Amino acid sequence: MRQSITDLIKYTSSGLYCSVADVWIDPSKPVKRALITHAHMDHFTFGCDEYISTFETAIILKDRLGKEINIKTYDYNKEFKINGTKISFHPSGHILGSSQIKFNLAEEKWLITGDFKRQKDETCKEYEIVKTDFLISESTFGLPIFKWDEPQNTAIDITKWVSHSPKKVSILFCYSLGKAQRLLNEISKTNFKNNIHTHRSIFKVNNCYKKSGIDIVKTNKFDQTKNIADLKGSLLLLPPALHRSAFLKNLKDIQTGFASGWMSIRALRKRSGYDKGFSISDHADWDAILNTIKESQAKNVFFHHGDSEALNRYLKEKTSINVLEFGYTK
Ligand SMILES: [Zn+2]
Ligand SMILES: [Zn+2]
Repeated sequence: MRQSITDLIKYTSSGLYCSVADVWIDPSKPVKRALITHAHMDHFTFGCDEYISTFETAIILKDRLGKEINIKTYDYNKEFKINGTKISFHPSGHILGSSQIKFNLAEEKWLITGDFKRQKDETCKEYEIVKTDFLISESTFGLPIFKWDEPQNTAIDITKWVSHSPKKVSILFCYSLGKAQRLLNEISKTNFKNNIHTHRSIFKVNNCYKKSGIDIVKTNKFDQTKNIADLKGSLLLLPPALHRSAFLKNLKDIQTGFASGWMSIRALRKRSGYDKGFSISDHADWDAILNTIKESQAKNVFFHHGDSEALNRYLKEKTSINVLEFGYTK
């Protein structure tokens, strides 16, 4: 079934690997040479000899891994060669610096989407449609039940949630990198006038964004040692890891919320332990995944990250696109 002459990208125990270029893509273990699609923790690891990414991703990676890492950067759309394989980064619309990676060998094109979204997000470059023969797509939200609302509606819901409880501190949990900055951007476009406080991990990422020329609304750095009661009527953004932390347990007069694509599922919302769930995602929903596959003109698709059974079935029944399983190499 597979019509590849190169079988360019395979799956290994360290992640996706291109043997011709001898590079790994977002490896999970330390390797010689790593192409990094973006700086979320599950897409890079400590200890690689060489990292290669976009300029913006490198700013965040250095912040997370240390300034001394050996990292080479390329602008979006700038082609470079490794062992004769042409490689380039293209915006994936997921977070600042996030990229799809295109490989071209012997006139055969392969594209790895990395994490991507198609919704508008002013804090990063918009997804670029790239044509390819073989597409490796993420499928985190690959079910028809996932259909995102406009982010501006979610932002308005959040501001109402805060404003309706002026005697409480409204604590919104969200990922420090990407989600927090997107929420701040969307909230800044509403007429929300209350104070906003951000955890230091978010505050730090905000500064990386500012360094890359992205305008982020001013927030106060949250100080855990101060009396949280002083923040009544404010919005406080914290990373999800702090949800069950000791300091929150003894607090009164707070309400908690979680901003995530998973919050679009009622059962998960109920089970989550948050007072409120706000559905907003930096990944593609069902329609966006299918449109992206179509626009890429790929004849062959692999899915990576997440459950892809429904997508496999849909593509098999409705299209002539082949859904392939990865070749595995050690
Ligand atoms: Zn990500
Ligand atoms: Zn991811």
